[in-house]
Amino acid sequence: MTDTPFLQATAITKTYPGERVAGVKRTSLTIEPQKITAIIGESGSGKSTLLRLLYGLLSPDEGTVQFKGERIWGPEEKLIPGHDAMKMVTQDTDGLNVYAKVWDNIAVLLPNTDVATKEERTTQVLKQLNILHLADKQAFFLSGGEKQRVAIARALATRPEVLLLDEPFNQVDTSFREGLQQDIRQVVHDTGLTVIMVSHDPAEVLSMADELIVLKEGEIIESGHPKSLYQNPQNLYTARLLTNCNVLNKEDAKKCGISTGAGNIVIYPEWATPTGSWTRKDWTVKQVLFKGSYEDLLIEKAPITLRLLNDQPGKYQVGDKVHIKVSKYLEF
Ligand code: ADP
Ligand code: MG
Repeated sequence: MTDTPFLQATAITKTYPGERVAGVKRTSLTIEPQKITAIIGESGSGKSTLLRLLYGLLSPDEGTVQFKGERIWGPEEKLIPGHDAMKMVTQDTDGLNVYAKVWDNIAVLLPNTDVATKEERTTQVLKQLNILHLADKQAFFLSGGEKQRVAIARALATRPEVLLLDEPFNQVDTSFREGLQQDIRQVVHDTGLTVIMVSHDPAEVLSMADELIVLKEGEIIESGHPKSLYQNPQNLYTARLLTNCNVLNKEDAKKCGISTGAGNIVIYPEWATPTGSWTRKDWTVKQVLFKGSYEDLLIEKAPITLRLLNDQPGKYQVGDKVHIKVSKYLEF
């Protein structure tokens, strides 16, 4: 029994011509099979570059990428760039033939040698993406979200082992997006597909990923299970990516009754609760942002403003005086 890593990058660097900052710097990582790994980072942090290096669309200047122990060939070494066992889907659905039916967009990718198998596989993949009812529709008439489903179905048609997703849900409505995310999770569960996705949407990576990698200026600064990275990020950068948190310097923290030796403290919106029944109500409600089942409250004790999550919508009005209780904070 060998323990060859599934997909592994070792100290890879990719610098773009004319760029002083590397796209990716001496980065090492191991991707676990049959899981969803998400790469999160601010715009320009090197997410797409890293994904393209893993796929073989780019060659690293230094370091190696290996899939099941074999080096991945770069675009100069291969007729059709990209590893044969992988497929990539981005936001652009240009690969679709909009004049053809959804069914033909999938079937065209499968060999003609065995017609029955071809039909079976096309049906199967349309079912997996919940678009079998669209089979006879011309791709031109699909919504953005439906097109994205077809693009993913096309990527999966030939049974790749790895599906790479580069922010493919950006153009998709929130309501539609959640369904698609669930369906992809289901495919991973049912078929053992490995997914590597790039995103800057915290809700997406937190709900989808088994493993989360945080990229900053081309370097991995931390990684782990989404829940533990959310609860205990080692970097302020990570906290800021994963939640719309309050960051206070030492002096402002003190005004909130927190003395710290650290430079900054971070309070997530759900870690501070307003209470109306306290004698010292030294905060003023400045804004109430209704979110359906909860509200975001912006409260102020000049010059500090805090964003709080209030799970009892309607309880506070603009101008109300409140006291707050902070149940947890992080120090950086
Ligand atoms: P992300 O996907 O996280 O937004 P990218 O990997 O696209 O980041 O880009 C990382 C850095 O490399 C950025 O500073 C970007 O401007 C630069 N970069 C990306 N692609 C190219 C390219 N083809 N030529 C020159 N610079 C590039
Ligand atoms: Mg990108």
